[in-house]
Amino acid sequence: MCGIVCYIGKQEATPILLEGLKRLEYRGYDSAGLAVTDGSETCLIKEVGKVSCLEEKIRELHPRGKLGIAHTRWATHGRPTVANAHPHTDENDKIFLVHNGIIENYLSLKEELEEKGHTFTSQTDTEVLVHLIEEYYDGDLEGAVKKALSRVQGTFGIALFHRDSPGKIVLARRGSPLILGIGRNEYLAASDINALIRYTNKVIHLKDNELAVLNSAEYSISDFQDREVVRETETIEWDQGAADKKGFEHFMLKEIFEQPETVKNALRGRILEGEGVSRLGGLEGVLDLLKSMEKIHFISCGTSYYAGLLARYIFEKLTDLSVEVEYASEFRYRFPAAQ
Ligand code: GLU
Repeated sequence: MCGIVCYIGKQEATPILLEGLKRLEYRGYDSAGLAVTDGSETCLIKEVGKVSCLEEKIRELHPRGKLGIAHTRWATHGRPTVANAHPHTDENDKIFLVHNGIIENYLSLKEELEEKGHTFTSQTDTEVLVHLIEEYYDGDLEGAVKKALSRVQGTFGIALFHRDSPGKIVLARRGSPLILGIGRNEYLAASDINALIRYTNKVIHLKDNELAVLNSAEYSISDFQDREVVRETETIEWDQGAADKKGFEHFMLKEIFEQPETVKNALRGRILEGEGVSRLGGLEGVLDLLKSMEKIHFISCGTSYYAGLLARYIFEKLTDLSVEVEYASEFRYRFPAAQ
């Protein structure tokens, strides 16, 4: 699943963001990226694949700055490519934004923005958010974000900064989690507690239709109607190990209790009920290849092996392809005939 992590404070942001991305890695994703700024220079780095691939690029480019946002993407709209990875930016590279969730009405918004002269460089739904905020921006970043989000249908957890409003990160959510981490003269934010627990155990859960502004000295929260929100910080008593298990005694227990949320997240935006079809962003780009297939091997282990066994029934029923399911650990010793 996708993840967000942000940092603003006195330390170099990149190592903290990288560490956070690694903590989010267990959720599964297809690409990752970050944007870090020192106030004058902003460095944007994106890569397809594991966080370690991003890390290699980071080692080459060495981004510096005490403010940054980072993301692991699980594609819903557009293939896993560097252009589609987050953060996304506007034409002038002023706004940098990461997003978890789905913008349901992105096509109509995209058409409207293209008519106004905006140029899109990715196939994602997310990119409309950047252009919409740019469209409304007149020096008041929070105002522009609120106006843009009032136009949006769907779910989002977003984090962004604007190069003309330096030293500040804006966060907002509806239907996708975001948690603030309150440190000493530094703030973090993440979509999952275990990405920030190493740095602080004081947290605030943002609620739906709330927006937060972080700078290195303070934070504020308001709702989308501009009413200030005052919320006590929560002290998390877990250490990193327990945070990985979300306070449960065992990973298995944690995963059992997470099932409703996990299924919801997995289906969100991928099942188009009205149209009676599913949309799998990661497969869109290989449609022709899929059509030319004669045989499917599901290669998996553990739970995904069982999912493969079930999928075999479905694929055999819906297609005339022959389907095999095999443990990955055994498949490596096979020599299946090329067809
Ligand atoms: N819908 C967005 C995309 O496809 C965000 C996916 C995610 O939550 O990682 O890029």
